[in-house]
Amino acid sequence: MSTLYHQLTLKEAVEAAKKDGAAPILKSIKERIQVLNPKINAYLRFNANVKASANGSSALHGIPIAIKDNICLEGEETTCASKILKGHVPPYDATVVTKLKNAGATILGQCNMDEFAFGSSTENSAFGPARNPWDLERVAGGSSGGSAAAVAADMALAALGSDTGGSVRQPAAFCGVVGLKPTYGRISRFGLIAFGSSFDQIGPLTKNVEDSAILMNILAGHDVKDSTSATQKVPDYTKALTRNVKGLRIGLPKEYFVEGMDKEVEANIRGAAEIFKKMGAEIKTVSLPHTPYSVAVYYIVAVAEASSNLGRFDGVEFGLRADAKTLKEMYFETRNQGFGAEAKRRILLGTFVLSAGYYEAYYLKGQKVRALIREDFNQAFREVDLILGPTAPTPAFKIGEKTSDPLAMYLSDIFTIPAPLAGIPAMSLPSGFTSAGLPIGLQLSARPFEEETIFRAAHAFEQEVQVYKKKPNLT
Ligand code: GLN
Repeated sequence: MSTLYHQLTLKEAVEAAKKDGAAPILKSIKERIQVLNPKINAYLRFNANVKASANGSSALHGIPIAIKDNICLEGEETTCASKILKGHVPPYDATVVTKLKNAGATILGQCNMDEFAFGSSTENSAFGPARNPWDLERVAGGSSGGSAAAVAADMALAALGSDTGGSVRQPAAFCGVVGLKPTYGRISRFGLIAFGSSFDQIGPLTKNVEDSAILMNILAGHDVKDSTSATQKVPDYTKALTRNVKGLRIGLPKEYFVEGMDKEVEANIRGAAEIFKKMGAEIKTVSLPHTPYSVAVYYIVAVAEASSNLGRFDGVEFGLRADAKTLKEMYFETRNQGFGAEAKRRILLGTFVLSAGYYEAYYLKGQKVRALIREDFNQAFREVDLILGPTAPTPAFKIGEKTSDPLAMYLSDIFTIPAPLAGIPAMSLPSGFTSAGLPIGLQLSARPFEEETIFRAAHAFEQEVQVYKKKPNLT
């Protein structure tokens, strides 16, 4: 029987490419995309003619990788799933793309997302929702829903997403894959089209923890083109995969087990804590008392930053330009036609909270509460090395279930928003399934720049429970 290359992990694919070359891997994945993308809508664009990179001697050996459509790809349309960027072709690559290319990877295509990364379900894409490979009537999560669905459905060996308030981790949880939001500044944001500049981080979505570590080795590091990128030395993350969690102190925040949370999710996460305990970790209850304010703070500070970042899309320099008689009408019509409802809502909210007379009551106060949330984590990390909880309060919801109620959608981000507010790293990894067969994600967060501790615990857990081996039935 011939190898089913699309089913390989990144690590296995690199090994296979050394023997067979990258071309059969690329072919197998392209065929998979051609069959499944019409159903799942994970890719907005994929390059059917892309050739396996000639750079076969380097770390990734021509391996194809997918990226989210807000990461600039030189010479290819990049739209953030928005009509306003229709026809926008960046003249340069994002630093993460340059790094992947230098490591020998082939960029396979650009994945679906909520418009400008505003959302938790990919339903805000101007090009239709991505569907969850485990149940096509359900959302893939968001905003990196296309990237997560592509990896879960073996339409990509690995993909990049971006996370501002949960956009790598929540779709990873909904689709049953591994998603890491690194420490703020760990990966360069150069060429990532900005949403909330004090939150945004690019992160890998992979089939398992080891692949995430392999990609982090390539992606992390300082970049002169991004002054917010950190100068800390980049460790070899694969060295953290020791399968040993003895003595690790893991905290369960009492605020992460809330009213209204899905019972099966809660039982699964408590069970995961027991598994860590059996493996030799110490489990403690901790408190993050300002958690209940995190959604409100995020939807003030992040929308303020978004409204200012989106000011540049006015029909002059990028993408769409509407016909109009005067310059002012042109701005108005371009934005009116180009932005979807959620983008308009956030621009309005953000402009409001930054406006004279309201700035102190909203934005400034929001920043103060953000400092308290960060301090909650500082306190907790004096007692524990990791914080464990659910990634999301429920498994993937039905397409259309929350679209008429933006607040319900915002509240579903309760557990993923605190990490980017505090700038700390956090990972979602598969921890089991509901009785209906939907994936459940477990979240581990750590002190800034301690991704290695996350990798160590996540890998040990993954090897113990082996949840990731189960695949959606898509035939
Ligand atoms: N769902 C959150 C929001 O709508 C987070 C999105 C993200 O991380 N880009 O803002």
